[in-house]
Amino acid sequence: MNDSSLRITEIFFSLQGETRTVGLPTVFVRLTGCPLRCGYCDTAYAFQGGTWYDIENILHQVASFSTHYVTVTGGEPLAQKPCIILLGAFCDAGYEVSLETSGALDISAVDQRVVKVVDIKTPGSGEVQKNRFENIDYLLPHDQVKFVICHRADYDWAKEILQQYQLNTRCDVLFSPSYQVQAPGELADWILQDRLPVRLQVQLHKYLWGDAPGR
Ligand code: SF4
Repeated sequence: MNDSSLRITEIFFSLQGETRTVGLPTVFVRLTGCPLRCGYCDTAYAFQGGTWYDIENILHQVASFSTHYVTVTGGEPLAQKPCIILLGAFCDAGYEVSLETSGALDISAVDQRVVKVVDIKTPGSGEVQKNRFENIDYLLPHDQVKFVICHRADYDWAKEILQQYQLNTRCDVLFSPSYQVQAPGELADWILQDRLPVRLQVQLHKYLWGDAPGR
């Protein structure tokens, strides 16, 4: 391991299941490790293990899929410092790059060409105390903030945070029902009743393939 090596759980090709590029063929690079333990986590298999790869090797593997979209995810990708270098290298190589991050770690050094998809952890996640609200200052208009909603109390909390930080004036805001916990239709009704300026998203890959890893 060195400054240009990262621990990787998997590199796979699938349809983007979330965010503004939902449905588009995308290569996912899943980095190993996460300092959080959200109750609904569907990637606990990425907490440990993984294989060390240097950045050149990762670029080579991603290139073999011949696609334009790359998503760096985890675990929590920013927990590994060379992730910042990896993101810049993907941008330099001409990919459209997004980063999925928990919102618990500093996003200020992320390359400005990267679309940051930043979680704000709700109370229902069990990790609300880990939110790093200073990150909000580093959101760019092309970024996206995501709340995973587990129940009505989460929805009300997310609505308050939305208003307190005027999040929708900074970037897109996603409300995502916790899979098989919060009914999507009910969440849709709440958003409509309150005229919230947010985008409801469901996890397309779960509807296509359930909880299968690597999809
Ligand atoms: S931040 Fe993401 S990877 Fe980490 S525990 Fe929460 S849901 Fe799982």
